[in-house]
Amino acid sequence: MKTEKLPHVLIVGAGFGGLETAQRLRNAPVQITLLNRQNYHLFQPLLYQVAIAGLVPSQIAYPVRTIFRKQKNLTFQMGEVTSIDFEARYIRSNGSVIAYDYLVLAVGGQTNFFGLGAVEENGFQLKSIESATSTRNHLLRMFERASREIDPDIRKALLTFVVVGGGPTGVETAGALAELITHVMSKDYPQMDLSEGRVLLIEATGNVMVAYPEELRKATMKLLEGKNVQILLNTRLTDYNGRRITLADGGYIDAFTLIWTAGVRSAEITDRLGVPQAAGGRVRVESTLQLPQHPDVFVIGDAAYVEDEKGQPLPMLATVAQQQAKAAARNIQKILRGETLEPFHYKDPGLLATIGRNAAVARIWGLSFSGFIAWMIWVVLHIFRLIGFRNRLVVLINWAWDYFFYDNQVRLITRE
Ligand SMILES: Cc1cc2nc3c(=O)[nH]c(=O)nc-3n(C[C@H](O)[C@H](O)[C@H](O)COP(=O)(O)OP(=O)(O)OC[C@H]3O[C@@H](n4cnc5c(N)ncnc54)[C@H](O)[C@@H]3O)c2cc1C
Repeated sequence: MKTEKLPHVLIVGAGFGGLETAQRLRNAPVQITLLNRQNYHLFQPLLYQVAIAGLVPSQIAYPVRTIFRKQKNLTFQMGEVTSIDFEARYIRSNGSVIAYDYLVLAVGGQTNFFGLGAVEENGFQLKSIESATSTRNHLLRMFERASREIDPDIRKALLTFVVVGGGPTGVETAGALAELITHVMSKDYPQMDLSEGRVLLIEATGNVMVAYPEELRKATMKLLEGKNVQILLNTRLTDYNGRRITLADGGYIDAFTLIWTAGVRSAEITDRLGVPQAAGGRVRVESTLQLPQHPDVFVIGDAAYVEDEKGQPLPMLATVAQQQAKAAARNIQKILRGETLEPFHYKDPGLLATIGRNAAVARIWGLSFSGFIAWMIWVVLHIFRLIGFRNRLVVLINWAWDYFFYDNQVRLITRE
């Protein structure tokens, strides 16, 4: 019997874009290899909940091999791609070489510190499970240290938590941190005066949530202030030594905690490909998501630079990555059938961010919501988007418990 060799599609990255591409190609006449640095898919939008001791990492991460157990045309490999030869059509990973007929690069992004090396070294970030758990350990340690500190200035700095970046991640983190202090730590440390605890949100521009409409920006400010988050707009920091933040205007803030959420750029591998890049290192692609000069290579998600109809770069969002994944999977199948490829158009499903208990802002179907209704939409959507029935159920129970008992479950300081 003659067996025909199927075209080999290599997908690098098992994030939102990579997973969706692989799933969309499940019935296509191709053999797929999915390669990812970790053996799990990470639901990054809930990383901040790991950092504030609300969820454990396994509730927001899911093993890739389990996701694809039933997909017969897919093989998973855990590994890191270190170089790509676009002419010879192979990648190098873990010392071995993998050839491809079609390559989908969905390598995502990483934190952008804009060259502020001291902030990178002494601050915290939310990009991986490791960074979120080390943030959690640090936060919890600050309360322990403050509880035995007798110098009031040092205690104040230990209890000053600075979040940099007024985008959705910064806003969500600041709101959740403020609630951790008010609802949870105040009960764990009854002997400490936690009115000394401060959460500061620093934003370099004149607005939080710049991508959101004016009414939701205002609602966000109001909701944050209601949770005692101090918002410092038009404030830029220049240095951080782990204890003191130096501001561009010469001022300073003493704080043992700085969480940087002010920038994202494309993953480091994109700098080593020798391909045209735009701001943040994102790879410039054709409207079909193909790499110019290399029609067999697609770049999607945070790693890709694509403009919308108004010439604005598409945001680095899971929804963009998933829609591009669908388009790339369709275009690969069109190539196989000899059809004309379709350009990618992003359909904006709306915006959504939570600011803690009962509080969120949302823009859906052209309507703005804030407060409890937006928060309910946020809860339902995030439960729905998590992978795995067990994860959904456990997260739902966790959130319900936190909601009714004002408690965060995961207050363990673990060794790193
Ligand atoms: C804290 C946080 C909160 C967020 N909140 C939201 C939100 O509320 N809503 C929203 O829409 N978006 C949100 N985002 C953005 C969203 O997570 C990203 O836009 C989305 O993950 C991009 O998908 P992707 O497939 O491009 O990359 P990713 O999901 O980042 O996946 C990339 C994968 O590639 C792997 N990889 C990278 N380099 C290599 C290599 N060289 N070799 C092998 N594997 C590699 C990575 O390990 C990773 O698994 C948030 C992001 C963060 C960090």
